[in-house]
Amino acid sequence: MTAQKENAPFDILIIGGGINGCGIARDAVGRGYSVCLAEMNDLASGTSSWSTKLIHGGLRYLEYYEFRLVREALGERELLWSIAPHIIHPLRFVLPHQKGLRPRWMLRLGLFLYDHLGGRKLLPATKTLDLRDDVAGKPLKPGFSTAFEYSDCWVNDARLVALNARDAADRGAEINTRTKVVAAERTGDLWRVRLQDTVSGDIREVSARLLVNAAGPWVDRVLHGAMQRSDANHVRLVQGSHIVVRKLFDHDRAYIFQNGDGRIVFAIPYEGEHTLIGTTDRDFTGDPADVSASEEEIAYLISAAGEYFKQPITRDDVVWTYSGVRPLFDDGASKAQEATRDYVLKLERGTGAEPALVNIFGGKITTYRRLALSVMDLVEKAIGAKGKSWTATPPLPGGDFAATGFEDLVTGLAADWPDLDRALLRRLARAYGTKTRVLLAGVKTPQDLGLDFGAGLSECEVAYMMDHEWARTAEDVLWRRSKLGLAVDEAGAAQLGRFIAERLEKVA
Ligand code: FAD
Repeated sequence: MTAQKENAPFDILIIGGGINGCGIARDAVGRGYSVCLAEMNDLASGTSSWSTKLIHGGLRYLEYYEFRLVREALGERELLWSIAPHIIHPLRFVLPHQKGLRPRWMLRLGLFLYDHLGGRKLLPATKTLDLRDDVAGKPLKPGFSTAFEYSDCWVNDARLVALNARDAADRGAEINTRTKVVAAERTGDLWRVRLQDTVSGDIREVSARLLVNAAGPWVDRVLHGAMQRSDANHVRLVQGSHIVVRKLFDHDRAYIFQNGDGRIVFAIPYEGEHTLIGTTDRDFTGDPADVSASEEEIAYLISAAGEYFKQPITRDDVVWTYSGVRPLFDDGASKAQEATRDYVLKLERGTGAEPALVNIFGGKITTYRRLALSVMDLVEKAIGAKGKSWTATPPLPGGDFAATGFEDLVTGLAADWPDLDRALLRRLARAYGTKTRVLLAGVKTPQDLGLDFGAGLSECEVAYMMDHEWARTAEDVLWRRSKLGLAVDEAGAAQLGRFIAERLEKVA
C-alpha cells in the first residue's frame, strides 16, 4: 500500500478513467508510486465502453502494414484472457470469401500471419469452412460457399476498466470519479492540479510530480482548457457506431464481413438475445460526449450486413445503437479508416526542475497493458524507477481461476447456492468471476437478493456495484457495470434510480 500523507504530493496524477488511465494507475501503484486518478464522469464513460469489445490483433491492420501493433495485440489476447477469464473469452470469427473482393490467397496469407505472429498457444488455429454444410452458412444468403474461421477474444470492455480501477484502489491508488481536472499548472518542481467534484461543484487542489493526460478523445481539450495551451492538435477523432438487433443466428461464433468499399463489418452474438453489428469510421468534430449514431451510419450497417444475411434487416429491427470516438494519433492519413490504430506517447519534460507531462494518443483496449508498460518507461525517465514490470500474471479482481475453468466456476457456485437460478449464477460469474462469492455472501434464497429491478438485476448486485465499483447512477449500472439496460424496462430503471439515490443518501 502507498497510502498518501495528507497534502503530500502524489508521484503521478492521471487524467481520465478510461482503459488507459485505469491500466496505468494499476501498473504504477503496483510498482510503488503514489497515484491519484481523476475521471470527470463515470469510469469507462468515454470511448472505453463504446468499443466492438474485441481483444484482437486487428486482421485488417495487416493491410496497412501495422505489424508492430498486430504482433503486440495478438500476444495480449491469451495473456489478458488468463488474467481476466471471467470477462474475456475466446470467440471464433467466420470470414466468408466474397467473389470480387479480397482473393482467397490474400485472406489465407493474412490469416497465416495472424496465426503465427503472436505466440498463440491456447486459441485454436484458422480453418477453412464449407458454408454449404456448416451451420455458420445457414443464416447467410446462398452463394457463399467458402469461409475461413479464426480466433480472437471477446471482452466486457467497461468491466475491464472498472476491474483495473478496483485493483489499483486495492493496491493504494486514489480513484476519484465525477472529478474533473479543471486546471493544471507547473509550480516549481510540482504540478498544482485543481479537481472539481462534478456533482457538488466543490474544488480541491492536489499536487503531483508527474501528470499523465489519458483523457482519450479529450486529450487536446485538456491541453487547451486545463493547461491553457494553444499548440496541441495531435488527436484525430474518428467516430465509430454500432447497431444492436434481435439475434440473427443461433450459434456462438461471430462473422466478419468484407464490404465493397474495402471496410469490414462484424456481426457478433450479443447479450444472449441480440446481434451486435459494427462499426463505421468517420471523422468527428465537436465534443466527444455528444456523439451518437447517425441515420446514415445506421443505414450503412444495415445495408452492409444485409449483403450477407438471408433474413432482411430493417430500421425497425434496430433495438439500440451506440457510438464512440476513437482518439487516434493524427498521422496525416487521408481516410479515417487508414489512420494508425497504434498508440503514440509524448513525454514533455519541463524546463529545469519543472515537472513532466505524458500525453497519450490512440491505443486499443487490447493493448492497454502494453501501453501502460511504455508509459512506465517514461515515468521512470522523468521521476525515477520504483518497482519492476509486474502486470503479466496477477489476475484482475475475480479472475483468479484457470482460463479454461469458467464452467467449473459456475458448477461450484451452483453447488454452494442450490436455490439460485443457474442462469443467474452464470451471468454473475461472467461479470464478477470468483468475486461472485463476495457479492452473494449472506444470500441463501432468491428472496435474500432483495428487490429485482428486472432481468435478474437485484438489490444485492447493485449494492456490490456501488460499494466496490463506483456505480453512482442507474446508467452506470445498466450500461457500464452491466448491459442490462437492454432488458430492464423503464419502470425498473426508474425504481433502480430511486434505490441508488436513497442508498447514496444513507451513506452520506
Ligand atoms: P476513454 O475511454 O475515452 O477515457 C478517457 C476518459 O477521460 C473519459 O472517461 C473522460 O471522461 C475522461 N476525461 C476527459 N477529460 C477529463 C478531465 N478534464 N478530467 C477528468 N477526466 C477527463 N479497441 C479494441 O481493442 N478492440 C475493439 O474491438 C475496439 N473497438 C472499437 C470500436 C469503436 C467504435 C471505437 C470508437 C473504439 C474501439 N476500440 C477498440 C478502441 C478503444 O475503445 C479505445 O482506444 C480506448 O477505449 C481508448 O481508451 P482511453 O482510456 O484512451 O479513452
